[in-house]
Amino acid sequence: VRDLTDRAGPRLAGSTGDTRAVAWALETMRALGLARVRAEPARVPVWRRGPETGEVTAPRPHTLSLTALGGSVGTLPGGLEAEVLEVPSLEALAARGSRVRGRIVFFNRRMERSADGRSYGPSARIRATGASLAARHGAVGMLMRSAGTSRARFPHTGSMRYEPGVPRIPAAALANPDADLLERLGHEGPVRVRFRLGCQSAGEAESANVVGEIEGRERPGEIVLLGAHLDSWDLGTGALDDGAGCAIVLEAARLIAATAPRPRRTVRVVLFANEEGGLSGAFAYARAHAAELASHVAALEADSGTGRPRGLGYNAGPGAARILARVRPVLVPLGAASLDRMRFGGADLLPLLPAGVPLLGVRQDMTRYFDYHHSADDTYDKIDPRALDAAAAAVAVVAYALAESEEVLPRIPEGRRKLPDWAR
Ligand SMILES: [Zn+2]
Repeated sequence: VRDLTDRAGPRLAGSTGDTRAVAWALETMRALGLARVRAEPARVPVWRRGPETGEVTAPRPHTLSLTALGGSVGTLPGGLEAEVLEVPSLEALAARGSRVRGRIVFFNRRMERSADGRSYGPSARIRATGASLAARHGAVGMLMRSAGTSRARFPHTGSMRYEPGVPRIPAAALANPDADLLERLGHEGPVRVRFRLGCQSAGEAESANVVGEIEGRERPGEIVLLGAHLDSWDLGTGALDDGAGCAIVLEAARLIAATAPRPRRTVRVVLFANEEGGLSGAFAYARAHAAELASHVAALEADSGTGRPRGLGYNAGPGAARILARVRPVLVPLGAASLDRMRFGGADLLPLLPAGVPLLGVRQDMTRYFDYHHSADDTYDKIDPRALDAAAAAVAVVAYALAESEEVLPRIPEGRRKLPDWAR
């Protein structure tokens, strides 16, 4: 993680950091002794942040710490100023009727801290869809309380997308203390905010998924995929998201390669391009390997930071639990005792869903993850080496077992292979 973050730095898709990361991944996989190391091309959208400022202009002047959501349009050079309309949720917005017109809508939803990160989903939905929903009701700008649990004055970015046919309004996230300020001022009376975003989209660029393998000793055509994403947001250096995941799958591969005998099936590590800005690498992988997906016997992604392993999640056909329970005696001493169903699977694995590939993830402790996630504070010092080691060991055990076992996991049944709306 240190090597990746210090050498490549922030790795927003299509940036020079992204290019350095691809070179780093190729070099690192070769140094680890993986076979058939290569970069597989993936087209990625380019978006650049630019300067950004925000302030309360009434009732009294205050500076705001905010950051554009990824994919947002910029404001006009002079910025955007309007009265704020605060709503707690997407659902509450429609009920405000004509009061939305001409306003900056402020989605004020607090994330709760938890080991499983379950509070992230609803805030991520606001982030992804809030701007277009607000614009449909006539809003001129969108602000949200950051999808993050820190009380530090760092805003958390993340991707958003515009609905076709709806005006594209600028969208930004406020640091939690600044969202608190808007909330308090809102209790006094009308609040006006001005913000200026210099961000813009800049076409497409060539990036790559970086792939390397440990060839199976008996059934090399059957594949257990270990994934993480190589890109990161631009504000921090993506140490937790997803430098940690890259380190986990690379270390798991190193451990498996150092174990005799090599497993029966091939273990393939894929570091995906542009997860953050729309899963470009994941879809490119599924297209390039379409003919081979039937022989992907399982896929596991690490994209949950540096926390200790808590258990194993899976999305597979009936009978999977019985097979996976056989790995538990090795996982329990690592603290990964739980075994439970996942609704989908890691974001980069979603394009494998239509082929029914069984999807897995080692569940990690995410209690602190959303303090740093997608913020300028996602840096190398947050890495917990012992917990990261334990997570890598858990992934290594699961991957080895899946690649070695006589029995393979039952595939996801036809009825559960549909991609979620947000991933289409
Ligand atoms: Zn991630």
